[in-house]
Amino acid sequence: MQLKTPILIKDQCLIGGAWTGTPVDDITNPATGAVVGRVPDLGAHETRVAIEAADRAFRAWSGLLAGERAKVLRRWYELQQQHAEDLARLMTAEQGKPLAEARAEIDYGSSFTEFYAEEARRVLGEIIPTPKHSGRVLVMKQPVGVVGAITPWNFPFAMITRKISPALAAGCTVVVKPAPETPLTALALAELACQAGFPPGVLNVITGNAEAIGGELTSNRLVRMITFTGSTEVGKLLMRQSADTVKKLSLELGGNAPFIVFDDAGLDAAVAGAIASKFRNSGQTCVSANRILVQSGIYDRFAERLTEAVSDLRVGDGTEQGVTQGPLINEAGLDKVELHVRDAVAKGAKVLTGGVRHELGRTFFTPTVLTDVTPDMRIANEETFGPVAALFRFRDEEEAVALANDTPFGLAAYFFTENISRAWRVAEALEYGMIGVNEGMISSALAPFGGVKESGQGREGSHHGIEEFLELKYVMMGGL
Ligand code: ADP
Repeated sequence: MQLKTPILIKDQCLIGGAWTGTPVDDITNPATGAVVGRVPDLGAHETRVAIEAADRAFRAWSGLLAGERAKVLRRWYELQQQHAEDLARLMTAEQGKPLAEARAEIDYGSSFTEFYAEEARRVLGEIIPTPKHSGRVLVMKQPVGVVGAITPWNFPFAMITRKISPALAAGCTVVVKPAPETPLTALALAELACQAGFPPGVLNVITGNAEAIGGELTSNRLVRMITFTGSTEVGKLLMRQSADTVKKLSLELGGNAPFIVFDDAGLDAAVAGAIASKFRNSGQTCVSANRILVQSGIYDRFAERLTEAVSDLRVGDGTEQGVTQGPLINEAGLDKVELHVRDAVAKGAKVLTGGVRHELGRTFFTPTVLTDVTPDMRIANEETFGPVAALFRFRDEEEAVALANDTPFGLAAYFFTENISRAWRVAEALEYGMIGVNEGMISSALAPFGGVKESGQGREGSHHGIEEFLELKYVMMGGL
């Protein structure tokens, strides 16, 4: 792989300011199978060393003026922007998404670093009206301490900047464990962090055995908080493992997003929203529409228009001009998509387009539209994480809301209507952390991203995002 700045391709981990470890694990390009890099296979011992380095760095980093931390974050943001093209190419090589999407992710991801560079100066305490004349009630906000961050492969850049920019801005120090499929983007970010001037130990990135690294991060008393994005299953495990040391937790877990199209929806907007929400990153996002619920009166027209739009999507290697759909991340991902389609068809769903592996082979899957999907099918209850639009039919608003809420998950939901009363009613009734009304793309550094129910806890982005990394300390000033 050729980058303008080859030093961004790292093959070692960053621990306590030193590049460490022997590169042994191959990182492959899912579109071609080519080896694009190699990273170390580290474990509990090296994680402990990284945590201790983060702990040593904490006092000085949290003791800086907010404006001093802000300057380092700002430099890091500028370096991310300056190297955006290299970072996007690196990401497409290890993750598979089309280059245009990778570029958009660098923009989106770096906006968190920019935003929290600004937000660092706005961590404000309080003075609360006193309960006694001789005292005053003060509340200060202080950084939590050392943070362990565990991130997924679907957004190899943004899931890291979204977590650690607010943590670093607040004064925390961090140990990041990126996903094993996509560590190169994380290590490139670490290289840029060194160039930006983060002191040694403030940001550490470690690759290797997930259970061993996760086990140490969750059991070590020096780590005060775990921030995780990934599967609900692993999130629950980390929560259990963190119980003994009572860590703060921020968890962004799986979803089962409903996408509701009412009879009174704008058809063009609904189709465009469904394409954006369902087919971005080949359907591999936790906010991807998983169940497309369509009212009877508009069902056939919506299915037809969506099928036309889906047939126009182009599958291929993400570096090729015009490609909109890359491969799935791995065989397991492909098997799950295929299983969901097969199960749905066996139970009566119809395939309007796609439904099979793509002729390119590897882990490419043909963008698919299924109709007559019903709640007894696997696709209704599990996150498919692939390019399959599953269309359910409903009669009225009450049924749509009941269907939408009938899941243990509660991350993102979308609905399309041109009726303003319905827009308020349904937005209030949906049990989700995020709602797109006539909108299929909802993520932004300016808004709080996160879920309810088994989709997690805590919020990332916006002024709320930095609060996760702060503790309140109440001080009663007496004897006044
Ligand atoms: P996915 O199935 O999408 O890969 P995972 O939840 O398995 O989702 O992975 C998300 C992140 O969690 C990755 O960085 C992965 O390595 C990590 N992970 C998986 N299992 C564990 C574990 N037992 N402890 C800590 N981290 C883990």
